[in-house]
Amino acid sequence: MIATHPRFISMTEALGGLNPGHFIRDRSRFRLYRRCHHSGWNLQRCVKCDVVDRARTACLVCSDGKPTEVFGRGGRFCVRHRRWHDGSEDEIVADFDGHLRAEQALSGLLWSRGVTLHTGEFGLATRLILDSWQEQPAAEQHIARRTYGPVVELLVTLTYPDVALTMAALAESHRRQVEGLIGLVVGAGKGSRTRELEDTANRVIRVHRAAMYEALRMPNSNGATITTAPFEKGIAEASYRAKAVFLRHVTRSGRRDELEERVVRGAPASRVVSRRLVPGWADDAPWNTTAGGSTSTATQIGRVARDQIHQADAEHLSESQERAQRGVSRVSGA
Ligand SMILES: [Zn+2]
Ligand SMILES: [Zn+2]
Repeated sequence: MIATHPRFISMTEALGGLNPGHFIRDRSRFRLYRRCHHSGWNLQRCVKCDVVDRARTACLVCSDGKPTEVFGRGGRFCVRHRRWHDGSEDEIVADFDGHLRAEQALSGLLWSRGVTLHTGEFGLATRLILDSWQEQPAAEQHIARRTYGPVVELLVTLTYPDVALTMAALAESHRRQVEGLIGLVVGAGKGSRTRELEDTANRVIRVHRAAMYEALRMPNSNGATITTAPFEKGIAEASYRAKAVFLRHVTRSGRRDELEERVVRGAPASRVVSRRLVPGWADDAPWNTTAGGSTSTATQIGRVARDQIHQADAEHLSESQERAQRGVSRVSGA
């Protein structure tokens, strides 16, 4: 906790010969693109929410051989030194074309869409690629390194707003959506259509369609009966509730379908919704059984620890606030 104290930070800056405010400025450069109520649900890097990514392992050559974690933009391949760095693994990559492209997409296009290794999409894309490789000879070694290129390529497609909409739109048929998703996965990973892939694709489409339904019909509050929540707010909240990691990239509703009506729980306060989609929110998603999360090494001068605490607090807070709110509406409804 002492590491977050302003005096400790300014002392560290002085010791390291850095300008005052170095860490604050550094952190602001790596704020994530997200949607929140502060900016009218536009995709922005909000100063007030101040959400940065979870830490990841830095390249050992970049960090002078000291195990270091960083929370900046980028993934698991060092473009400068052509090294793969992930947890305890740190080695030079010989055939690096795929890794280079993946890293550029992750720190460029995907970054501007608010997608990182820890925002949920990466875990699901990894699950899908691995499922499509089930019929290939099993290779337990370097699985994260082998999936990196195909997973990022799949992410670039699936987080494109119109593709995300096609996957979740209620006007499309469920079967066509499953077929479309399977096609994209097989195309990106050069795998094949396996039973496991069919199962996961079915589940993903089911979850995303249900979440879309919920987003479109979400009452503005628990007490509201007529007014629905703003579209982007409904999308953010419904994504969170169902761990529908690709739904949050949808920017328009598509055609609507007449479906059997069912009750949708009202949206919580805007500030609660805004705090939800922070890195790690989809870690316990049902498909995350083999996603290789990097284990912690040393943290870099306390910054990382502070981020984790900050976000854990925010999540905890939002949950308790929501519970309190539900309690209130139950009382008023009785
Ligand atoms: Zn905000
Ligand atoms: Zn490096």
